[in-house]
Amino acid sequence: MKSLKNRMIILYSITTMVIVVLLAIVFNKSINTIFREYAENLHNKFVNRTVERIENQYDIEAGTFDEEKIERIGLTSLKKGLLLRIESVNDNFRFDIRTKNEQECINILQTVEEHMHMVYPNFRGEYTENKYVLNNEQDGVIGWVYVGYYGPYSLSVNEAMLVSKLNNAIFWSGVIFLLMSVIIAVIMANRISNPITSVIEIAKRIAAGEYGVQAKAKSSVKELEDLVYSINEMSYSLKKEELQKRQMCTDIAHELRTPLCNIQGQVEAMIDGLWEPSKVRLGNCHTEILRLTKLVNQLQELYILENTCETLYMCRFNFYDMCCILRNEFEKRISDKNITIRLQVPEDAIVYGDVQRIKQCMINLIANAITYSSEGNEIGITYRIDGMKEVVIHIIDYGQGIPIEEIGFIFERFYRVDKSRSSKTGGMGIGLSITKAIIERHDGTITVYSKVGEGTTFEIHLPL
Ligand code: ADP
Repeated sequence: MKSLKNRMIILYSITTMVIVVLLAIVFNKSINTIFREYAENLHNKFVNRTVERIENQYDIEAGTFDEEKIERIGLTSLKKGLLLRIESVNDNFRFDIRTKNEQECINILQTVEEHMHMVYPNFRGEYTENKYVLNNEQDGVIGWVYVGYYGPYSLSVNEAMLVSKLNNAIFWSGVIFLLMSVIIAVIMANRISNPITSVIEIAKRIAAGEYGVQAKAKSSVKELEDLVYSINEMSYSLKKEELQKRQMCTDIAHELRTPLCNIQGQVEAMIDGLWEPSKVRLGNCHTEILRLTKLVNQLQELYILENTCETLYMCRFNFYDMCCILRNEFEKRISDKNITIRLQVPEDAIVYGDVQRIKQCMINLIANAITYSSEGNEIGITYRIDGMKEVVIHIIDYGQGIPIEEIGFIFERFYRVDKSRSSKTGGMGIGLSITKAIIERHDGTITVYSKVGEGTTFEIHLPL
């Protein structure tokens, strides 16, 4: 199979060659026609003038031609390649240049033939003779002149040279043009095929599992530039995805290991008879199992949300009612820490989304706000409509806050600011990942503003 590059070079070269050959033929034909017309025109004019001059040499009184002058006319005509033969009507005058200058006549005819064959190798010419009537105003027909020449038409030496030079110029221009076209074709083919070849190579390497490789080829053609950009983007995304998957596997293994080790240690101690199976010890095992179950459920949920295989049941619902319900659900935890939840939400506040999913977000954010607030603190929930296009919700706490260098990571799965607090707070660093995934499935955004010691604000934007 021919490569794109070779195909383009061959196609372009053939096209150019056909155009060049056609143009050369047209030019050649035009030049030949122009020169033929020019030669015939010149020949006719000269013959007419010669006939006129011969007529003028007629002596009416003597009833014959002036021989000396006729001979001069004959010689002048011979130089132009014309052989004159004259007969008077009363047969008292005869002139034939061939009888006077036979050798010169043969030479001249031969030279003209040679020139014509030099310019047109296939020229089919032969000796031609045309008869013209000689007239006089008084006597009417006074004789005849026979003009012989190498025809059907002939060019002078200079004209033949000029035609030959023009044909040569056309031929060499064609050759140069053709060579230049082939060079341009090679450059163009390279410019087009190089990025494609590079993309193919990268695609093959990606198919072989080498994610992240980038095509370096540059192109000024928009489509090719887009092609290179797209394959590079794809390669980068696959690499990112692969890293994420690897990271996720490592994280999951890490998160599962601690509770599993705890359960394993306690159960083995009980089997070996080192520990008596008591309610407290079995309860500890049960707590770890519950943590594991919660972790597995959260991971499954995150997977579903991030892979968009779950449908959202979108509707307009009353956000104020949802907040009131949530405040009741958290009543035990807030009263334990003497925390108050202050709602700055209008009673007719509307949110467009999946009720259960938005509720899940609010639970995660309020739970975190309670967890990271000190006793007696206040938690605020605000709602406002921004430009009739979206709602803006804030969940504000005045707790410990998040260090600035950690803020960028808190939405990442398994990320916890204080790693040692996980067992104490029960958090596994997945809640905010789920929250972010839910908000993004709603085409919204979630941002965090925080200052250590002053508190944290989560800002949610949801389209209306
Ligand atoms: P976790 O289940 O550990 O709370 P999250 O994903 O909900 O996991 O939160 C990730 C981390 O972000 C938490 O471990 C905590 O360090 C930090 N964080 C989240 N919300 C707050 C908050 N309101 N105040 C301070 N830190 C917070």
